[in-house]
Amino acid sequence: MRSKLMVGNWKMNGSLMANASLLADVLAGMADVQCRAAVCVPAVYLAQVQTLLAGSAMGLGAQDLSAHEAGAYTGEVSADMLRDFAVRYCIIGHSERRQYHAESDVTVAIKAQRALAAGITPIVCVGESLAEREAGQTEAVVKRQLAAVIHANGHCISEIVVAYEPVWAIGTGLTATPEQAQAVHAVLRAQLQAATAHADRVSILYGGSMNPANAASLLAQPDVDGGLIGGASLKAPDFLSMLKAASR
Ligand code: PEP
Repeated sequence: MRSKLMVGNWKMNGSLMANASLLADVLAGMADVQCRAAVCVPAVYLAQVQTLLAGSAMGLGAQDLSAHEAGAYTGEVSADMLRDFAVRYCIIGHSERRQYHAESDVTVAIKAQRALAAGITPIVCVGESLAEREAGQTEAVVKRQLAAVIHANGHCISEIVVAYEPVWAIGTGLTATPEQAQAVHAVLRAQLQAATAHADRVSILYGGSMNPANAASLLAQPDVDGGLIGGASLKAPDFLSMLKAASR
């Protein structure tokens, strides 16, 4: 059985002082936590957070990496650079990057490849917009997004983590119902099963306004293997409450 994986996405939030305070509170409450857990932090804080997490059960993650290996790409951070800071996970193709940085399915697939080549687990985000859901295109959209990553990554595909994040649920306070989430997760699982004999190893996370009130019912679904949590991961009591819900 897959143990649950709970990942905080800090997005563009934090400061040296706020990070230290948040992680001190989270780490102090981890005694009862049995699930896998990580925080994906802004790149400039990787060194600080690596030190703060040393010796703890909390993994370190990044929020993006370059599609290029190295060279004249001003402002970019490569997968190998992330590896220098013992980064274990990297969010790839978050809807905010697809939307505000015009990341295509192909770019997302290449970034996942770069992560895997550096020994970093890509957390590949897929999800439909509200208009796409209302047009009955949810399944087609998420399958198209995942197909690009499967195509580029071949037999390594069982090494990725997938995050189903309906765009209409991210940061909006709207959450997919457990049944809506499970229906899409089942579609993604079936797509992975068609691509690899090891699809049962792939964790499929739900993301989109997950909070202490809705986490347990989402996590109770058979194909919901954990959560990708934005806003609520910035509040230690809320994040810990969800980590505990995933530990039951
Ligand atoms: C996210 O950033 O991936 C996310 C799911 O955000 P939120 O939990 O705030 O909706």
